[in-house]
Amino acid sequence: MHLTRATLRPDLAILTMAGFLEARPRVGYFYSGKSANQLLIEHIQSLMVKDYKSRPVVVQEKTSVYDAICTMFLEDVGTLYVVKGQNRLSGVLSRKDLLKAAMGNHELTAVPVSVVMTRMPNIVTCKLDDTLVHAAGQMMRHQVDSVPVVRIAGDEEWEIIGRITKTTIARAFVELGENISI
Ligand code: ADP
Repeated sequence: MHLTRATLRPDLAILTMAGFLEARPRVGYFYSGKSANQLLIEHIQSLMVKDYKSRPVVVQEKTSVYDAICTMFLEDVGTLYVVKGQNRLSGVLSRKDLLKAAMGNHELTAVPVSVVMTRMPNIVTCKLDDTLVHAAGQMMRHQVDSVPVVRIAGDEEWEIIGRITKTTIARAFVELGENISI
């Protein structure tokens, strides 16, 4: 090609980083045989829950529905997680759960959230080492806006350590669209 090594090397490095070529030290560069589509899929499947999770906003089981509504507004989130003891996941409260409770003729300061939440073991969760695609699939299949990230904390007990929401997935999607260099 009548090009010097110095000219070729940066281009080969870029193609290697993008996954089109494989570099074998002291041997040379080889075509990986992967299409741009395959590389994009591999990249998407490499996104992990542990790198994208955000902070969960939690309330206690005995918190009143009124206080939970205030927390939802103040913390600017769409889902609250209900815990007992040391961050042990016991329930989920969505906007509609709280709206439904507010529509009845109840004294909202007296009703505890444990009465209106969706409770364990009916909560769809994910783990730190799940892929983001798996967490998004869980949200789609179960038609919920978020999944708590949990780790095992004993017999049938789960500690809540994060959350993945539809906003998380939108953020990852935007990052992919803006940064991908395949
Ligand atoms: P919204 O109430 O705004 O539609 P969701 O779709 O997230 O929000 O919630 C719908 C129902 O599913 C609610 O009753 C809620 O308690 C429940 N829910 C929310 N997240 C989960 C989850 N991860 N696992 C199981 N149930 C959930």
